[in-house]
Amino acid sequence: MRKPMVAGNWKMNGLSSSVRALIEGIQQEPHLSSSIDMVVFPAAVHLSLVRDLLAGTSLAWGAQNLYLGENGAFTGEISGSMLTDLGCRYVLVGHSERRALFGEDSALVAAKFQAALQARLQPILCVGETLKQRERGETEKVIQEQLAAVVKKAGISAFRQALIAYEPVWAIGTGLTATPEQAQAVHIAIRRYLAEQEVDIAQTIRILYGGSLKADNAPQLLAMPDIDGGLVGGASLEAKSFLAICQEAMAVKLGQRVA
Ligand code: PEP
Repeated sequence: MRKPMVAGNWKMNGLSSSVRALIEGIQQEPHLSSSIDMVVFPAAVHLSLVRDLLAGTSLAWGAQNLYLGENGAFTGEISGSMLTDLGCRYVLVGHSERRALFGEDSALVAAKFQAALQARLQPILCVGETLKQRERGETEKVIQEQLAAVVKKAGISAFRQALIAYEPVWAIGTGLTATPEQAQAVHIAIRRYLAEQEVDIAQTIRILYGGSLKADNAPQLLAMPDIDGGLVGGASLEAKSFLAICQEAMAVKLGQRVA
């Protein structure tokens, strides 16, 4: 069975005081993180604070981005080995905001994915289609291309160390959500694509759904058999809403509900 994961992408939000408060709030329900994987992705400047606050707990943390190589003349960038050195375990790669706002194409995303693995980080590869691409019936094609670029660069076996997040671009931060059926169809398509190359990877890899996931739509989405948890943006910025999604993940996936 694939262990559920709920990950909070805090994006460029928070000051040290609010980060402290958020972590304190999330820690109010420690039983959740003993059943499911809970991960937070603070801004880079808050990584060491979050590491210290989470020391000795079962909550994990990761980085939102990395650059290629170990060192070099890349002003403003952070390498995978710097993140590993900090104690970091996970890193997001290919988030749609990186692709759209910072010009990251599939080749760069694939190189970052490989750089993450070389630094012994676990990448969460984000894939997803725009609304136009969905309307043109290109959803599966677009996602296959995003996956294929990574397979070409890093090899299919690299996915043994990775997770995938399906995040329809039109659902991120918009309040629109894929229906459970739409999301499930894409998650199955991702597994089908991976199975063409390695059946066991297709069966074991965790695929998260992201895109305006909230406590009220989480039960239906997370009930889908190929959705293994969520990557949460806006709703991860408040402990209460993040914990409510984690609670739903535990209830729906593991049949455990805590009062
Ligand atoms: C995200 O940015 O990964 C995300 C899913 O954001 P939101 O939940 O706010 O749509």
